[in-house]
This record gives sequence, C-alpha cells and structure tokens, in this order.
Amino acid sequence: MNINDEFDTITAIATPLGTGGVGVIRISGDKAFEIIEKIFTNTKFEPRKFNHGWIIDNGKKIDEVIVLPFFVPNSYTGENVIEIQCHGGVNVVKNILNLVLKNGARMAEKGEFTKRAFLNKRMDLSQAEAVADIIHSKTSEFAKVSVKNLSGVLKEKISEIRNQIFEVLSKITAGIDFPEDVSEPEYDYLIDSFNNVISSIDSVLKGAQTSNIFRQGVSVAIIGKPNVGKSSLFNALLNLDRAIVTDIAGTTRDVIKETLDLGIPVTLVDTAGIRENGENKVEQIGIEYSKQSLEEADLVLFVYDASQGLTQEDKEVLELLKDKKHILIANKSDLVALSANSDSFTSSEGECLYLSAMTGNGINELKQELTKQVCDINPESLDFVTNTRQQECLRKARTSIEQALLGAQIRQLQDLISIDVKSAILALDELTGELITDDILNNIFDNFCIGK
Ligand code: GDP
Repeated sequence: MNINDEFDTITAIATPLGTGGVGVIRISGDKAFEIIEKIFTNTKFEPRKFNHGWIIDNGKKIDEVIVLPFFVPNSYTGENVIEIQCHGGVNVVKNILNLVLKNGARMAEKGEFTKRAFLNKRMDLSQAEAVADIIHSKTSEFAKVSVKNLSGVLKEKISEIRNQIFEVLSKITAGIDFPEDVSEPEYDYLIDSFNNVISSIDSVLKGAQTSNIFRQGVSVAIIGKPNVGKSSLFNALLNLDRAIVTDIAGTTRDVIKETLDLGIPVTLVDTAGIRENGENKVEQIGIEYSKQSLEEADLVLFVYDASQGLTQEDKEVLELLKDKKHILIANKSDLVALSANSDSFTSSEGECLYLSAMTGNGINELKQELTKQVCDINPESLDFVTNTRQQECLRKARTSIEQALLGAQIRQLQDLISIDVKSAILALDELTGELITDDILNNIFDNFCIGK
C-alpha cells in the first residue's frame, strides 16, 4: 500500500489458524458496516456494545458469532472496524473470511491494520514497531518492555529531545529573520544547549546495547567430547527430550538449537562432540558445525565426565576455549562420591560446577550462573527499548548536533549552524515516522503478520 493510496476496506483472520476456542476476523474501512449488514442477523449496532447473532450466506447459517463494532475514529486503525468472533475451527473461520471478501473487502497485507493505525495517527512509528516487538518477543521480559514502548515512553523521550532542539532553532531563526527586533542567541547559550541535547540523546542510546541483547538474545554453546552428557544437559536445561541421547559416542550429528527464557532469550546450541577425527562423514560435518558454533557463541558450557575426571582429550578441547567466556561443568556427578554439601569445586582449570544432567542436581545452580554471566541486566531498569533503525536515527541526529556544536564553538554564522540543527530534527522525525518514505514504511510492516 502506498502512503497516499485510498483506504479501501480490508479484512483478515486475526487469530492463528487452527483449532481453538475462538477465531477472530477483522474488517477495517469505510465499508466495514455495509459488509457486516449483508451477512449478519443482528445489525443494530451501538458504540461499545457487542451484538450476538448468526453469520448467514444467502439465508444459510454459517456460524453463531459475536460482533464487536468500533466506530471511526475510536478503533485500532482509526477507521470503522468490525471484529467477528466465531468458533475457532479452521474452516468456519475461512468460510466467514471468504464471505467478507465476497461482499466487498480486500485481503489485508502484512501489518496493514497497524500501518493504518500509524497513517491515521492512532500511534507513532515507535509504537507501531512496539506492536511487532510484542508479537515476536521471545521472552516475557522483552514483551513487558515492548509494552512500555507501546504506551509511548520512547515517543515522549524523543519528543522531549525534539522540543529541546526546536527551541534553539526557533531562537536562531528569529535572530536571522528579524535582526532588528530579535538579537541572535549567544554562542555560549548554543554551546550549552547543544551539549544538553547530546547528553539527552546519549541517555536514550545508553540502553541500545541492552536493547539489542534483549532483542537478539545471546548464544550459548554446549561443548565437550562425545558422551560426556551434552545432549542430556541440553534437555535438562530446557526441560525436554529433544536431543537424542544414547550411550554411543557421537550420536548428536547435527547442531540442535532451542531458546531458553532467562529473561533474555538464550539460544542454547547442542553440538556434536568435538573430537579431532570423526569416525564418519556425517559426524565430521557435525564437528565442523561445533567449531563454528563455538566461534559464534557468546558463552560456552564446557562439559566433561566427572566420573572420568578431566582427561587429556578434555584438556585439548578446553585449550580451544581459553580466549572464550566459558563455564566449566563436571557432569555425571551422581557417579562420583562427593561430600554432601559440594555443588561446586575449584579444579586446576578454575571454578567448576558439579552437576548431574540425569538427576537434575545442580541444574538450577547452573541456570543462576548462566543468568549472571550472560544476562546480568535488570529488565525492570529499562524504560524502553530501541531497535537498530531507531538507534540509527538517533545517531544521525547526534552527528548533526555535534556539527552544530562545532560551528558554535568556532563562532560560525548562525545561518549555517541552523542547517545542522534542522538535519537533527529531520532525523528524529524519521524515527517517529513524521517524515518517512514508502520504502522504510513497507520494510517495517513487512515484519508483521497478516491480521495485525
Ligand atoms: P553427549 O554425547 O555428550 O551428548 O552425551 P549424551 O547426553 O548423549 O549422554 C551420553 C550418556 O551419558 C547417556 O547414556 C546418558 O544417559 C549418560 N548421562 C548423561 N548425563 C548423565 C549424568 O548426569 N549421570 C549419569 N549417570 N549418566 C549420564
């Protein structure tokens, strides 16, 4: 959809297709009421009241439903919106969708409902992007922070910074346009103001790295020689039976990945045992993948068999890890007699966590250690998150203000300084969507699903 396109009436299934309690079909646009009136038995609609009745096709009953009417502009998209709540079977939902299409709606594109909400000024771009974040969030913590963005926290921060810049620009412009009545602002005032703007931008950018960790998560690879219990540990950490566990060395041929929710998403990677010579080609490939996973990992769990102790082979693998952040794990602790109170001990290789993937002993301690090492962020401390597009806009604005600052320091003509100040404002307008191109917009909404 082009920014300037006429807004025709769109529809989509808003719930996942499958067997469930309820299925929701959404209609948005001028013809939303006209369409529902043709296919529904109870059409006297009032704001904030739902209607109960039957969806009918040429007098034939299709399903018993509830219809929620939203009158323009008080709806998600800012247009007339109808939501039909029907029974949650795949076919009944599709039948109703087809009926709506037959009666004058068009199938919505990905994210088109939210795009309309943005274009109709129901939300700014940072809020629209928050909707995508909430849908795609891999952890409950990220969903919580994204909700802060949806409620407009980032939008307000950006608007404060924009006001700060705008105030300076107004003073410069007044001095240029009405030199007889208004004197140019002092250069010292400009220097102070630009420094303040830079620290405001920095305070938003400060959370950028944390935001990125929250969004992308971290990768943790489980490494060790075959049969030490890597797959068992993978399963124990995730509480599942995904990886194949056998007592034949080298059974994990592929790299297996799953996400563990430790507040931020931790992608746990189970690898084939690293051994110099895989016995066959498939295992050899797995070993290559292991080395690659090792390189890509932010942290490594190095596992060895406590009942065998740290062997020469283990030491060789450990050698590969010397420059990598890692946790040393002695698995199969159930097979060795230890003093009752020892969860961990210090080996010559450093602090080592003693656990049993089989009995589950020590797994919680490992999770705590993992959390401490990879995600030592208090999600509560984040007021908002930023994505790379927003960070890019902020950096552009910062660079422009830095230029303006330099100009003020060397007492440049204020006319020239104002060019950089205007660029900074444009960069922030790009962030909030005040100034946006079709391409950027389409790129953003392509990440949505149909029906949102
Ligand atoms: P991997 O090749 O390193 O992935 O090792 P697996 O997870 O496939 O385990 C190899 C064998 O060790 C299997 O027979 C497991 O049941 C066994 N095993 C794994 N963890 C433990 C443990 O903590 N204690 C005991 N006693 N056996 C374990």
